[in-house]
This record gives sequence, structure tokens and C-alpha cells, in this order.
Amino acid sequence: MEKGSQWIDQKVQELCGLSKTIWEYAEVGLREEKSAAALAGYLEKEGFSIQKGVGNMPTAFVASFGQGKPILGFLGEYDSLAGLSQKTVPTREEVVPGGAGHGCGHNLLGVGSLASAVALKKEIEGGRLKGTVRFYGCPAEETLIGKVFMAKAGVFNDLDAAITWHPWVVNGVWGGQHLAMNSVRFAFYGRTAHAAAAPHMGISALDAVELMNIGVNFLREHVIQEARLHYVITNGGGQPNVVPAEAEVWYYMRAPHRHQLEEIYPRILKIAEGASLMTGARLEIKFQVGCYDYLPNRVVSEVVLDSFRKTGAPKFSEEDFVFAKSLEQSFTPGQKLSVLGASNIPPEYGEMTLHTDVAPFYDWGKTLPGSTDVGDVSWITPTAQLTAATFVMGTAAHSWQATAASGMGIGQKAMVAAAKAMALAGYELMSKPDLLKRAKEEFRKNTGGKPYVSPLPPEMDKPQMQL
Ligand SMILES: [Zn+2]
Repeated sequence: MEKGSQWIDQKVQELCGLSKTIWEYAEVGLREEKSAAALAGYLEKEGFSIQKGVGNMPTAFVASFGQGKPILGFLGEYDSLAGLSQKTVPTREEVVPGGAGHGCGHNLLGVGSLASAVALKKEIEGGRLKGTVRFYGCPAEETLIGKVFMAKAGVFNDLDAAITWHPWVVNGVWGGQHLAMNSVRFAFYGRTAHAAAAPHMGISALDAVELMNIGVNFLREHVIQEARLHYVITNGGGQPNVVPAEAEVWYYMRAPHRHQLEEIYPRILKIAEGASLMTGARLEIKFQVGCYDYLPNRVVSEVVLDSFRKTGAPKFSEEDFVFAKSLEQSFTPGQKLSVLGASNIPPEYGEMTLHTDVAPFYDWGKTLPGSTDVGDVSWITPTAQLTAATFVMGTAAHSWQATAASGMGIGQKAMVAAAKAMALAGYELMSKPDLLKRAKEEFRKNTGGKPYVSPLPPEMDKPQMQL
């Protein structure tokens, strides 16, 4: 693996530059044209073959190098977040007022995974490693779209394992489970009438929305404690003296495991149908997106963690610490401990400003109260997620503080550390058949050997909208 890691060392400037370019593009989900082109272009120059537009998304692609088995995939993301434009300074200053920014560090995520893929390519090219390495260009993670539609298109099916990472406050490996989720809009259609003069002539679509919500609120008591059902009324009619002919409510439904959600979701559909029957308003179900819970593979996760220990945590400069200390001043009182607590990170980490070590597993078997489309990949192939300290300790995800760190030395040094660790882990997995065999045995045990079934309705083969 020497040549591969040497390549990363030689290209540090170039890789950091690429991550900065994507940070500047700050393109939101499904609009990442320039970011996807920059990553795909880089890989093409390195000799990867590129398949564009996978999953019916113009900004999704698969880059492949090598031949035959084993096939190892690195997952990359590059979408930004609306409203999080921020300069690389430790106080709130936007680049573009109200603009988008990389408040989840996906500019680093894409380039870090790309660097690992190219490092392994150097090994394959030099005849020191056999098999195929892939980089998956996954758009629109923030809206849980990219990998779900790519998975439905079958692009992960022949993988032997997948490795990805996420910018975070700790150097380590995520073992926690994210939640399975469905996002669905329920639209009701009735008939307008004068609300005072002829209410008997009207059919209120808003009544149907309200009755549906009442039904779901009663259902709450009879679903598992860990389920989450939340909604917003996106259309409640125009004005009180017109019976609303159209109304819509948008639900997120979540549970720790996909099979639990599959049990709850049909009951919600029945409630929606009931509201339609009660009011006479026609119901239209607009499925937006759904995803699996994350199933971490212990064997692959251990390989990634061991590799990270060998390649080492990022080495931050004096300047980085000065920046971090100053940025910390912007945290709200109690923020550090609350961010760490919500992410199952031991409270003693709160005494640090930047994490400079590699943490042991700290959240294995625990639940992380969010959702990610890496979940779908993890039910198709053994998967692990590294995290690297690209952010100042206590930074909330999706914040301007995260955007700031993602565009400067702190984020970039952690990205390079992540790339080296993932490259070594990939090398280990591809060169030691026994590791992949054990990873697959564990995977079969955890999935019960059942094939992945897309959470999307059968006829849905491309994203309907941006959330
Ligand atoms: Zn993210």
C-alpha cells in the first residue's frame, strides 16, 4: 500500500484544492453539476471508466478501475445545504447572503473518498493488488435521494464491500444505527363552496387533512416507542370563507428498523383512506422518498478502525487551534455537551477543542436520531463509515461553523487523514480474502439472507422533486 499512500501525500495540495473548489460551488442536491463534473473529470484523467446519469439522476455517476473480483466501493457525496453560506472565518459572515454552503462537509466527503479510490488504483495498476475499485458519485444525500435511487438501479449489487466516511468532530468509526424513514405527501381534493352561504355544497380537503392527523395522533400510542411521526400542513386552503378544495399534509415517518416502519406505514395509509371516506375528499398519495436504517458491518468497521490507528489522526497546526478556539466562542451555552450527548460521544470529549487521536468504538448498537441513505447500501453489501474530525469539537451538524471548518485547514487535514485510512482499509479487504469472507458471513446473518427490496414504490424510478 506504500505507493498508494505516497500518492496521497504527493497530492495533498491538489486534493485540498479540489475540495475547496467544490466548497465554493456549494451546489444543493440534484443540482451538483459542476461538483460532479469536477470529481468525474479527475477520475477520468486517472484512467477510471465513468458511467454517468445512473439512477436517472444527471449528477450521479460510477467510476471504475480494474477487473474482476473483489470489487470494493468508496461512496462520495458533494451536495450542500441551503442557507449555510459562510466564509472561512470563526464568526458568522456569509459569502452569498442567504446562499447555500457546505454545512455538512460533503465537499470533503467526495474528495476524501476519491483519493482513497485513486490510491487503490495505483496499487492495481502496479500489479500489487487484484480486483476492481469503484468510486460512487452519490448526489442529494441531504434529501435522502441519491443512494436510494442508485440502489434501486442496482449499481451496488456486485460489490464485495463498501467504505465511506463522514466529516464529524471525532476520528473514529460510526457503529450507531440511523433510522429508517419514509417521506410522503398526502393530498386531498374536495369541492369549493361559500363557507357561510352554502357550506353544504362544499367538500373540505382541509377537514380530511385534520382528520388524518387526528387519526395518526391516536395511532401514536400504539406504535413502538422509538417510532417518530412528524408532519407539516403544506397547503391548508386559501381563506376562511372558501371551503378548501385542496389541502396537503407532508409526513416523515421513522423507526429504528425498516421492517418496523413497513408495519406502521400501511396503518397510516388506512388512516388517510379513512379521512377520505369520512369527508368525501379524494386522496392522492405522493411518495417522496424512503430509506433503510444503517446496518454497520463489524468486520469491515474493525478493519477501517485498525487502519485509521495505523495511518493516524490528522495533525492540526497551531493556526488551526487558534481558529478552533475562536470559533468555539460562537457556541451557545451547553452546546458542546448537548451535541456530544445526542451523538453518543462520551462527555469527556467536551474538554477538547479538536480531536487529535483515533477513538475506540463508542456508539456500537446505539441509535442515532437521524436518517442517511448510506443505510440502503448497508443492506446490499457489508458497509463501514469512518468519521474524521473535520469540525471543531461540539460543532452542530448543518451549521455555519461546519461550513467554515470545511473550507479551511482543519477540514482539509482531517479529509486527508480519512482518505489514507480508508485506502489502507480497502487494501486490506481486497488483499485478504478471509476478511471479506467473514464480513459476508456477518452480513448474511444480519440480513437473514433476504435480498434488498427498495423502499420506493415499484413504478418510481427517478426522484419526483427536491425536498
Ligand atoms: Zn452529511
